[in-house]
Amino acid sequence: MGLAAGVLVGAVLQATTEASWVQADGVGGLERLVLDPDCERAVWLAPFSSAAAVFMRLLKMLIVPLILTSIVTGVAGVAGNREFENMQIHGVSPVVAINVFRPGVGAELPLAVPDAFDPGRGRSFADILERMVPENVFGALSENGRMLQVIFFALVFGFFIARSAEVHRKRLGGLFESAFAVMMGVAGMVLKLIPLGVFALMVKMVGETGFSVFRPLLAYMAVVAGALAVHSCLVLPALLRFVGGIRPGAWVRAMAPALLTALSTSSSSITLPATLEAAEKRGGISNKISSFVLPLGATINMDGTALYECVGVIFLSQFYASAGGFELTLGMQAFIVVTALLASIGAAGIPSAGLVMMLAILSGLGLPVEGAALLLAIDRPLDMLRTGVNIWSDSCGAALIARSEGETVVGAPA
Ligand code: ASP
Repeated sequence: MGLAAGVLVGAVLQATTEASWVQADGVGGLERLVLDPDCERAVWLAPFSSAAAVFMRLLKMLIVPLILTSIVTGVAGVAGNREFENMQIHGVSPVVAINVFRPGVGAELPLAVPDAFDPGRGRSFADILERMVPENVFGALSENGRMLQVIFFALVFGFFIARSAEVHRKRLGGLFESAFAVMMGVAGMVLKLIPLGVFALMVKMVGETGFSVFRPLLAYMAVVAGALAVHSCLVLPALLRFVGGIRPGAWVRAMAPALLTALSTSSSSITLPATLEAAEKRGGISNKISSFVLPLGATINMDGTALYECVGVIFLSQFYASAGGFELTLGMQAFIVVTALLASIGAAGIPSAGLVMMLAILSGLGLPVEGAALLLAIDRPLDMLRTGVNIWSDSCGAALIARSEGETVVGAPA
């Protein structure tokens, strides 16, 4: 709705108003045209730009408290539990796909290229590991672009909450749990505004530059969908068959109600009851395993989200790299994969949560987060797909763990 209405109003503004452009120097000798602020179209577009800016600020406001509380709560809840197993094997396929198709290179996106930034500097893998460790935790929390440090500290802190004496574990664990619950409420409110935010963003983008923005976005959507398809139709079924001895076709049929719920709600959390029911009643997993693995998986094991974040961030980096004249190094890509994996642990199981995490990764890379706004416009169909993959992967994980505990599940020999 927000998308269609925004495109319509933007197109009308574009067709009916006069625009005049001024030349602005971009980075690396690149010259760009920007709307002259006094011209008719720019005056009409100004309120939409402000609304879009407020919406982006609200999204950014969520990043630090949401990631901190969600990771600390998640890790404190599971660390020390012997049964904890997490299979995330999703770093490779999206990176290969996005590097083969490279939809962001030279894409005509209506995004301003900042005057001076150099994200390529010092991004070797060793460098990334070194800089993951914060020297000053409060510095990391208060500065943009140090998300990996926040994640690192949250992992360590959560782990040691789980290992501390009961009195501290209860007090601090409870405090973070409550803070996380409150932040989820705030996030729910902000994410409800998405249609309005998308409307304002679309009016601004289409009003400024017309429809050329959609071509690269379609290529990007195709890469995300293709990479999700490879992961869910090849990688996970191969694990089911070769690790668990389970026939993938039988397992997918058993999980079908949960997968359809995931596709229609775009939320792992809302889908959880359906996932539990399908896994137990149709799949034959014991309640002991499903009631532990599936809720955990719905919050921290998000293959689809991690994969989507890798593709999205690399797509935007390709654009900024080709427009801003820096090289997208292997080290940077490794950084993106590591951060995307960790950020997906912190992503909540609600619609569009992955997008908030994408803002975090972009700021970690030193790239402007406005790029994520562009992806927000076309997020819903991708969110449906990645939520489906998240649930599919959780169910595969539960089936494999059930098999390793000697249980008989649908599609496996007794
Ligand atoms: N909607 C996804 C989920 O609930 C999270 C995301 O936005 O990637 O699994």
